[in-house]
Amino acid sequence: MIDRRQFLVALGAGAVIAAGVAGCSDDSEDPDSAGASSAKKRATLPIPTMPGDPFQLGVASGDPDASSVVLWTRLAPVPLEGGGMPDQAAPVRWEMSEDETFQKLVASGTTVAETRWGHSVHVTATGLEPDSWYSYRFRIGNYTSPVGRTRTTPEAGARTGRLLLGFASCQAWETGYYNAYRDLAATELDLVLFLGDYIYENGATESGVRKHNSAEITDLAGYRNRYALYKSDPNLQAAHALCPWVCIWDDHEVENNYASEQSEDAAITPEAFAPRRVDAYQAWWEHTPIRLEPPSGQSLQIYRALRWGDLASIFMTDERQYRSDQACGDKILQLVPACDEINSAGRTLLGDTQEKWLLDGLDASPAVWRVWGNEVVMTPITIGRAVLNYDQWDGYPADRKRILEHVSSKGMTNLVVLTGDIHLGGVGDLTTGEGDSRKIVGTEFVGTSISSGGLLPPGAEGLVRSNVPAIKYVNSSQRGWTYCDVTPEKWTTEYRMVENNQVDGSPVTVDATFTVSPTTPGAVQV
Ligand code: FE
Ligand code: CA
Repeated sequence: MIDRRQFLVALGAGAVIAAGVAGCSDDSEDPDSAGASSAKKRATLPIPTMPGDPFQLGVASGDPDASSVVLWTRLAPVPLEGGGMPDQAAPVRWEMSEDETFQKLVASGTTVAETRWGHSVHVTATGLEPDSWYSYRFRIGNYTSPVGRTRTTPEAGARTGRLLLGFASCQAWETGYYNAYRDLAATELDLVLFLGDYIYENGATESGVRKHNSAEITDLAGYRNRYALYKSDPNLQAAHALCPWVCIWDDHEVENNYASEQSEDAAITPEAFAPRRVDAYQAWWEHTPIRLEPPSGQSLQIYRALRWGDLASIFMTDERQYRSDQACGDKILQLVPACDEINSAGRTLLGDTQEKWLLDGLDASPAVWRVWGNEVVMTPITIGRAVLNYDQWDGYPADRKRILEHVSSKGMTNLVVLTGDIHLGGVGDLTTGEGDSRKIVGTEFVGTSISSGGLLPPGAEGLVRSNVPAIKYVNSSQRGWTYCDVTPEKWTTEYRMVENNQVDGSPVTVDATFTVSPTTPGAVQV
């Protein structure tokens, strides 16, 4: 058994999910396990008096490997008022079964929901079969949570015929409903990748179809209540209950366009910004089914990878915590040449350590597909020398060039980059070289937002399409999610768009479908 602090140290640079499997085996009810006595202690903790059903935020699972998966819930009988739990640790029983009857349990235990972590629960259920589905639930006192479905991955390297993958990002509460999640939750999927902007930090406005619960959030209590608001949505809860998710953040989980220790507001010093980031990271951890021990200190290493049999290696990166500040004043949609700062030495988006981890991981992957869960758009969206968005990879061109030239020089043909952030559906070619030596080395699928408003002004869609040759599809006006049917022969991406996301219950249809071959980068519309 490893305690939490030791585990954090042990985790260190080991970002690959499989390396983080330790811990939580003390949740086992195996009487022979070393954790039996502490498990007994947990089981005898008094059950707090709660003012109502503590499972109102639903359940979730995430970060699966071939023998284990993380199960999540948070006790919050009064969700928007700090959760409403008394200030005491609470014993929470978890149960896993092959079916929804829970007659025969394959794994179970009791864990502790602690006040200091917002009474959130992260259990790593271990000893599971590879490539298998399970039901799970939590119990405390007379309350039983909703049931979630989750699964393990196929063994790394095992021959695997299919992965049904969904990806999503940007779910601003006020600007639309979660119709996309209603559709996603009704779809057969193995895994969902969430690529950032799970919450938005802004204060309540009058113009949306729903309303934020407070002014702009800047502290732990504020972030917790904001997550509780978002997680109260039944469609989001159903989407989490469908299958495991692998989540990364983007900027709005803290503050719009923050960069490493720098607030968007240049007048705020890193020292003044630091406590806000710490609180935001903690609240993100508390509400995410991530295989990571509780935060300690200023940073949280969330970049990590997972394997899906021999079919896919999936890399999830963090493009906020280590980046250089946005160049050229972080201006947006300005048709003027980029300033020199954009090419200054030492600028980085991933940071050196993460970039090396990514390149090494890509090199070592024997899988049919190399998949990259990426936060900001990589396909160049430049018109002449004008950069339309300095927050994207366009603002960090040296890093992008280095990575894509590496992919090219190693002869990789199977890189598929999945991207969020920009609230549009888009397909782009990732290229190296110019003119006659231009070469497509990867494929980028940008998913539209679940609910956040489109960012391109009227007319800009056409401007981008006609001026940017790498762009094969742009839909900035619709919200939705993206479905990927991944097989050894072919990758198929469907853009599933909500008809009118200002209406709760509006239907979803497929707007465009693209395929990619693992031996020929570049998407083809079908
Ligand atoms: Fe967003
Ligand atoms: Ca964003």
